Amino acid sequence: MCIRVYGIVQGVGFRPFVARIAGKAGIAGSVCNKGPYVEIYAEGTAAQTDDFLYRLSHEAPERSSILKIEKQRVEPEGETSFSIIQSEKVRGDIFVSPDIAVCPKCKAELFDKTNRRYLHPFINCTACGPRLTILDSMPYDRVRTSMGVFPMCPGCGYEYTHEETRRYHAQPVCCNDCGPHLYIPGRSERNAAALVYVRSVLRVGGIAAVKGIGGFHLCCDAANPHAVARLRALKNRPFKPFAVMMRDMRTVRRECVVLDGQEPLLDGPQKPILLLERRTVDSGSAPDGGRPLLCAEVAPGNPNVGVMLPYAPVQLLLFSYPDGERMTDCFVMTSGNQSGAPICRTDEDALEYLSPMCDVILSNDRVIRLRADDSVMSWQNGKPYMIRRSRGYAPLPFMLSDTRKGCVLAAGGELKNTFCIAHNNLYYLSPYIGDLADVRSVQALAAGVTRMETLLELKPSVVACDMHPEYNSTQFAHGLGLPVVEVQHHYAHIASCMAENDWQNGAVIGVSFDGTGYGTDGTIWGGEFLRASYDGFTRLGSIMPFAQAGGDLSAKEGWRIAVSLLDDDDLAVQIGLCSAQSLGMIRTMIAHRINCVTSTSMGRLFDAVSAVLGYKRCSTFEGESSMALEFAAESELK
Ligand SMILES: [Zn+2]
Ligand SMILES: [Zn+2]
Repeated sequence: MCIRVYGIVQGVGFRPFVARIAGKAGIAGSVCNKGPYVEIYAEGTAAQTDDFLYRLSHEAPERSSILKIEKQRVEPEGETSFSIIQSEKVRGDIFVSPDIAVCPKCKAELFDKTNRRYLHPFINCTACGPRLTILDSMPYDRVRTSMGVFPMCPGCGYEYTHEETRRYHAQPVCCNDCGPHLYIPGRSERNAAALVYVRSVLRVGGIAAVKGIGGFHLCCDAANPHAVARLRALKNRPFKPFAVMMRDMRTVRRECVVLDGQEPLLDGPQKPILLLERRTVDSGSAPDGGRPLLCAEVAPGNPNVGVMLPYAPVQLLLFSYPDGERMTDCFVMTSGNQSGAPICRTDEDALEYLSPMCDVILSNDRVIRLRADDSVMSWQNGKPYMIRRSRGYAPLPFMLSDTRKGCVLAAGGELKNTFCIAHNNLYYLSPYIGDLADVRSVQALAAGVTRMETLLELKPSVVACDMHPEYNSTQFAHGLGLPVVEVQHHYAHIASCMAENDWQNGAVIGVSFDGTGYGTDGTIWGGEFLRASYDGFTRLGSIMPFAQAGGDLSAKEGWRIAVSLLDDDDLAVQIGLCSAQSLGMIRTMIAHRINCVTSTSMGRLFDAVSAVLGYKRCSTFEGESSMALEFAAESELK
């Protein structure tokens, strides 16, 4: 029998798994990695074949994801054993595995003195380690990754070629005798000495840039208010919350309220950032009686904090290393970038942009091919809710049940850009790119598109982009030399929502509440009610249009919107929105339509209400005023 298995079946130990279950079921034949699918020739009795097929669909490796199994009867060739055949490429849909957080077995080996990978900062196995971020092209084999330049030592070579080991065909396999090294640019310490030095910097409140899986993080002790305040000053980020990496679940429970179902997500193979409620005196003491240690500066005025657990071995070693020194169990782990720029990927990036913000850089010579920021999720109605889908999830495709054909690139929006390559009913979303107002993010978008096209072996014939004439994403799309389809911003939001939920039942009423989007009438939209299908939309209604005076400033200064919404000048001054002079200026701008646009933005309306109620007059980061309003409303509801 010839069996084809489609899905995430590369880089997750699928072929060794097939060989193992073939042995158990008494099946002879072979398994081969074809790129788009794994092909199996299986010879055996009917009972043996049934047993084999059952095991194939029920015992597959945890990290694999089977989308489809095709079976076809073929003439037996009289095979007597089962073998794994070298990868052989054919054309077809390609599934690239996301990066996988260090697994429990590797974590145990990392801290086992008798193991030959004791304290090895790059430990990985068939079930865990970097994937997308080190990959050059498919099929997934070591020579086509950034591990290709590191020859395996005999010990690793043995594990790689013997199916009874945990590292059989683990492409990034390495150990203390072979593979990448840790180092500190500009200093002589390497490997263990580099780690010990960086820990000593962090322990006294210093800031380190640490190369992880998909880029650099800026890292400091999250329990040290001076360290966090200094990072805020250096990063020019006064209030926007920082994500925190915690040593283990025990620490998370000490700092945060952990709800049912959250631990498997936090401690699972993706290890996203999850927004959790911070523990306060009101929420009672932690299960083991510990008191929270996170300093307020981590997320000022915010009842929640973004938490993740270590997912790269080097991060585990920053927390725990046998150098006889105590270490904090909470690190700020914020993307290593300048505000608006993409996360730093190379030493050159880190030296140029991060060295002014940190005391030391901990790098390594395993090249990151594609950036992958941390994924971010919140928790709603007892379930995870994706906010930023990136490391650990991208580029797993969404598979829709429709029958559209073709290959389209969607260039994404301007803020928080992500792009998507769609091929027939598969939608491959990129990792998070960044805010395209910064030219470096536009370059990252261009590089990301090229790399994903190479990995997926797809050449889009059409590009879709936003309608906004001044967006860099729009200009990028027009520069590709492909036919361009411009899509209205809020219709795109609703269509994405329909696709994410595989909606195939005709038109919907879509409600899109948003900050800013270019409307078909040239005004700013953002509080929209649309009748939408995959073929188009009509605008049924919106919130009442108002004047947004002051250009770009009006997106940051909610008091400006508040003034244009209030008729009563005296009241506006009385409640401290602005001085009488500023008020006169806004009134003049609106009256003469100077630097003033018509808007139905729900985001701006929230900002205005936040200002009127006295929470925030201005925002230092996107959403700050609205968040303050939300937290106030939530605490009132409690
Ligand atoms: Zn592992
Ligand atoms: Zn080795």
